[in-house]
Amino acid sequence: MGNYPKSPVMGQMMSEPLLISSIIEHADRYCGANEIVSRRVEGDIHRYTYRDCHKRARQMANALGGLGVKMGDRVATLAWNGYRHLELYYAISGSGAVMHTINPRLHPEQIAYIANHAEDQYLFFDLNFLPLVEAFAAHCKTVKGYVMMCARDRMPAESKIANLLCYEDLIEASSDNYEWPLFDENSASSLCYTSGTTGNPKGALYSHRSTVLHSYASAMPDALNVSARDVVLPVVPMFHVNAWGLPYSVPLTGAKMVFPGPALDGKSLFELFEQEQVTFSAGVPTVWLGLLTHVGQNNLTFSSFKRTVIGGSACPPAMMKAFREQYDVEVVHAWGMTEMSPLGTACTLQAHHLTLPPEKQQAILEKQGHAIFGVDMKIVGDDGKELPWDGKTYGNLLVKGPWIISSYFKNEGGDVLEEGWFPTGDVATIDPDGYMQITDRSKDVIKSGGEWIGSIDLENIAMAHPAVQQAACIGVFHPKWDERPLLVVVKKPGAEVTKEELIRFYDGKIAKWWTPDDVAFVDALPIGATGKVLKNRIREQFKDYKLPAT
Ligand code: AMP
Repeated sequence: MGNYPKSPVMGQMMSEPLLISSIIEHADRYCGANEIVSRRVEGDIHRYTYRDCHKRARQMANALGGLGVKMGDRVATLAWNGYRHLELYYAISGSGAVMHTINPRLHPEQIAYIANHAEDQYLFFDLNFLPLVEAFAAHCKTVKGYVMMCARDRMPAESKIANLLCYEDLIEASSDNYEWPLFDENSASSLCYTSGTTGNPKGALYSHRSTVLHSYASAMPDALNVSARDVVLPVVPMFHVNAWGLPYSVPLTGAKMVFPGPALDGKSLFELFEQEQVTFSAGVPTVWLGLLTHVGQNNLTFSSFKRTVIGGSACPPAMMKAFREQYDVEVVHAWGMTEMSPLGTACTLQAHHLTLPPEKQQAILEKQGHAIFGVDMKIVGDDGKELPWDGKTYGNLLVKGPWIISSYFKNEGGDVLEEGWFPTGDVATIDPDGYMQITDRSKDVIKSGGEWIGSIDLENIAMAHPAVQQAACIGVFHPKWDERPLLVVVKKPGAEVTKEELIRFYDGKIAKWWTPDDVAFVDALPIGATGKVLKNRIREQFKDYKLPAT
């Protein structure tokens, strides 16, 4: 919201504010009959249209007014991907309140901390979260009422929660006669807390303007490439950075939307993909691992699935290859973060790449990609000086743009920008064409003899081994080199491989001194609330690990 000089000659176009409500209005008026299908927490499949969604969002907006929710008030949700959650996205933000999505995978104490920090006025939750809500409700100081997202017949006969309301009762009692209010587009629209692996989580507070701009940009062909011909199934949860903006960018295009509810296992996802003829999806690598395992073990093929966006953590090249070669599904590798709404880059080729041999094209596609219009990037050294875009020099990645955070909610953490740029905490290279590749999260980099080793490269190689299901590489103490890489591996069910075989697998693929010193086999890797491997937990687990003498 900078103060910029005004030209003596101003443009003469309408200056309607960019508001989230305009997206659902558009979807209703121009694609109103298109479907929204949800696998419900109740277990059945629910289907209705954008027109129905808009009507119920208006009813819910009236209901919120009746509950006394005012502009700027925070209203929380604790819910899976589903149509009622979508209605709330529009009812809450559209009426001028702030939609605060909370991750139900967090510990009850963390949820209470976040709800208190946000000063949530109401909290909406899916019916299967009743025990969770009962566990923390007494600690929430500002919440006036809890709304269970179900019909009357699913409400509990009694509950520890004092003011427990029923979602469908609120809808039924409210008229759909509601005009979305017009207000300043810089008003806050939604709030999402970072996963906060260290310290307390901090809130990224999006605005209507940032959300609408992000929706336009993220739907473009070289980003998520969503169109009205698609059937989109967001696997990424609506409680994790607004499901990467899909609840906005999909209605903006009018595409059919399919919500998986809580059933994110490979079998349930595959069934829904086939039943609803899904063409496009988006999620973190750990979810796709489950789907690919199910499809592989049962010799299945996809009949409609064409494209998926994978991000949130690095997509292993072996996963891209499996999708493309075995299932004819194109993978678009993307990168972003909560503080970036989240989309920063996506990886698609340019015309001049199309004559390159396939392996060179593949090497580009494995990167996190080029900035989408609106985002600018640079890499800098520890001295803050900009580093060259040669595809080799790595440095701290900084970003700026209209949907990138300028400060955290309630100014937690103080001034976070570095001369107008947001430091992402990622370490990356940028090549001469502007394609960025993450080598690591700065705190995950392995520091060996004063040099950095990127753990992502080491993991990607291990995951290309046929016996490896998942791999994580961490630095462990070494008396001479400070740190050396330890590869932590989960084997595929029934597969066998030795340490020595895995270490030999690196031969010729990477500089010799980058090769992990040792391999530890584990049954599972710790996964966090947003589906990412928790490196800090693994480091904790192996903090006293003794590497073999070399
Ligand atoms: P979050 O705010 O929870 O979405 O986490 C953002 C962080 O996830 C980024 O700063 C990166 O460290 C990581 N991340 C997201 N996408 C990718 C990707 N495609 N490759 C590697 N790391 C990623």
